[in-house]
Amino acid sequence: MEIGFNAEETRFREECREWLHANVPEEKRPLHAADALEFDKAWQRRLFDAGWAGINWPVEYGGRGLSIVQQVIWLEEYAQADAPWIGANFVGVNHGGPTLIMNASEEQKAYHLPRILKGDAIWCQGFSEPGAGSDLAGINTRGRIEGDALVVNGSKIWTSFAHVADWQELVLRTEEGSLRHKGLSWVICDMHAPGISISPIRKMSGQVEFAQVFYDDVRIPLENVVGGLGNGWRVAMSTLSFERGTGFIADQVKQSQEIDELISTARANGKIRDDRIAGELGQMRAEVAALRAMTYRNISTVIRTGQPGPESSVIRLFTSELGQRLERMGVLLMGSAALDFRYGDDNIVHDYLRGFAATIAGGTAQIQRDIIAERLLGLPKSR
Ligand SMILES: Cc1cc2nc3c(=O)[nH]c(=O)nc-3n(C[C@H](O)[C@H](O)[C@H](O)COP(=O)(O)OP(=O)(O)OC[C@H]3O[C@@H](n4cnc5c(N)ncnc54)[C@H](O)[C@@H]3O)c2cc1C
Repeated sequence: MEIGFNAEETRFREECREWLHANVPEEKRPLHAADALEFDKAWQRRLFDAGWAGINWPVEYGGRGLSIVQQVIWLEEYAQADAPWIGANFVGVNHGGPTLIMNASEEQKAYHLPRILKGDAIWCQGFSEPGAGSDLAGINTRGRIEGDALVVNGSKIWTSFAHVADWQELVLRTEEGSLRHKGLSWVICDMHAPGISISPIRKMSGQVEFAQVFYDDVRIPLENVVGGLGNGWRVAMSTLSFERGTGFIADQVKQSQEIDELISTARANGKIRDDRIAGELGQMRAEVAALRAMTYRNISTVIRTGQPGPESSVIRLFTSELGQRLERMGVLLMGSAALDFRYGDDNIVHDYLRGFAATIAGGTAQIQRDIIAERLLGLPKSR
């Protein structure tokens, strides 16, 4: 394995850096949903117009057709430049689009992929249900075939950005009487279709970013099934591998910056003289470095096999747990000033409250540990 970047990649990094330096908006991404949506769409369009959206997506669908290494370089520079979180475009860009590239028909790709990249179509993910979160194979939302459509009934929950989404990656049971991961399908659901109702849920950070979605005889054309009827489990697994994939590189760059800031704060307020605090800051700095190395290793797997390996779960688990410890340390260093938090404050207390979700969303810490135990360490199944 060659460690390091070649001349072309180094040039590309310079190009990214220059563009970001000149174009990252001065204003912060708004916290309120409607303003945030407008901001996310405008920023995604700007990225697309300048050729920075879909760096490793095929050219025919609006991408640049560059390498995964160049995609990673872009993500690193993006985080380094303190560019805004892609927010409402997260599902489409990070895992909806990549799932379509891998599994969808030509028509589906040609229609949806450019719209995702331009920020014209917001996607959400309809996997979790009130009775099936970790246990995706236990879902009950059903689609009954009627003519050339699936008629869908049921409910999904914790659907991020449901209230602003145009499309949904929806996993449902399409074979009557089927059990577990058999008889499922992954379909593209129009979120504006009759029969869909959305009930927003407020998080403890104060934001409304997810919702419960109800389907009452919603008609989804059969041509919206991706990867074939009954193959939903296989397609959903590719979605999850993208969701838990290389995106964490940006988190790690951010975490590295956060540690620097925490060390400066601890120096300024004298708390660095507390051995426990100094020790923990040092430990976290070492962990970020280890996670970066592991992420590069996982990127090599992507280059070799086309998909991230189960190591993604190690990265996912440790990045989210480290993030929570960093935020806790930030609050500790703030001291009693942290008690003065109000919704709308964009500070470490907000990140701390929001950060509790990090070890739940996209698969809980316990589930990641199960995957690591079974698939990486070869231990017996826990159930
Ligand atoms: C901020 C946020 C955004 C989200 N966005 C989306 C989204 O856009 N789309 C979507 O579909 N879902 C989304 N989710 C849902 C998320 O994927 C689920 O919450 C998660 O998979 C856990 O499922 P659950 O909440 O049903 O908990 P459960 O599965 O009921 O788990 C409850 C507890 O039991 C533990 N547990 C369960 N099974 C096992 C086991 N086999 N071994 C050990 N422990 C176990 C879990 O780890 C957890 O601690 C989001 C969640 C959050 C917090």
